Order: sequence, then structure tokens, then C-alpha cells
Amino acid sequence: MSKVKIYDISMPVHENMQVYKNKEEKKPVFSVIRDFTNGDAFETNVKMDMHTGTHMDAPLHMVEGGETIDKTDLTKCITLCRVIDCTEIEGCVKKSDLEKKDIKPGEFILLKTKNSFTEQFEYDFVYLEKSGARYLQEMKITGVGIDALGIERSQKGHETHKLLLGSDILIIEGLRLKNIRAGEYLLIALPLKMEKLEAAPVRAVLIEKDAWRNI
Ligand SMILES: [Zn+2]
Repeated sequence: MSKVKIYDISMPVHENMQVYKNKEEKKPVFSVIRDFTNGDAFETNVKMDMHTGTHMDAPLHMVEGGETIDKTDLTKCITLCRVIDCTEIEGCVKKSDLEKKDIKPGEFILLKTKNSFTEQFEYDFVYLEKSGARYLQEMKITGVGIDALGIERSQKGHETHKLLLGSDILIIEGLRLKNIRAGEYLLIALPLKMEKLEAAPVRAVLIEKDAWRNI
């Protein structure tokens, strides 16, 4: 049996989970269609916003006519990545914060912030500010993940989303990184194949960089 440690960095999906700005219409609704009291099987219907919990945004989310989530390049979803410790940062992650991190072209960066330490929606959650997004774009990374349900807030014109999605940089939102040390890992984060949609839920996991060969 494999002894490889797999870190689940996904948010549990349930009816009382945190959702963006606590909006009622964003909360998932589970309807049990049948169960063992009225049938011989269990079956559930789920009504859910595609930006609920851990999910990936496609360019269409912010770019008119942009690519849809089912067209995502899966080679970018199973990849080495680096978790960067941003837990001391208040407010937003800026270029000046990222410049110290030795980011290289082709990297997939996960931003671990204080957001990972609460399961409530915080209106002042830490986000990636546009100068940080521009810097990551200049560094030609392949993707960026954050432990907030949005990669930005309070920026006119959604500049962070547009900078990243306009440059084919994948965005994963809603990660849970509380128990993850900074460093390199294998990331597996495959979005559901939802045709023509702008986003989809992801089950995201990390595997220690040198351990995955032993699976
Ligand atoms: Zn989203």
C-alpha cells in the first residue's frame, strides 16, 4: 500500500459552508431525490454556483468570448507547484511582496495567507493586488492559487482576474492551506468538464515533491 502523504487542500462543500460575501444565492442546496427510506438507493441533486468552494476560473469568467473551463490545458493542472508563505501579509499581496520570492517562468504558485485560518467569509480577506498580478504575468507563471474565494476584491474592472486570465494563467480559488508548509509539491487540481462554462469545482491535492514517484 502506498505510504505517500496526500494533502487535501480542498474546501468541504456543504450547505452551511462559507460563500462569497455570504450571499444566500451562492450557498449550495442539496436535495435528496431518494434514499433508503423510500427506495433502494441514495441519490442527490445539487444546486451550486461554479464559484463555490475550491474551483478554477476560466478566461470566460472575465474575458468576453474567452476560453471555457472544459478547454483547460490539463498539463497545467497536474504540475509541480510552489506554496509561498504570505501569512504575515494584511490586506493584499503586492509586487513588493512577491519580488522577494524568486519566482521563475513556468512556476505554478500557491499563495498561503491568513485566509486559510478561518472557515468564515472575511470581508477583508487577503487578495492578490493588481501590481502582484502584473508581476506574476511578467514572470510568466502558468497558474496561481489562493486561499480566498476570490483572487481579488474591491478593484475596479477586476484587474487581477483580467491580467491573469488574459495571459492564460490558471486561477484556483478557495484553497485550504493551513496545514501546508511553504515549499515545492506536485499539484493535482482537475476542474470538472463543464461544457461552455466559466469555472468549475476542483478537488485539489498536493503531494510532497520527492514522494510522488512512490505512488
Ligand atoms: Zn471564481
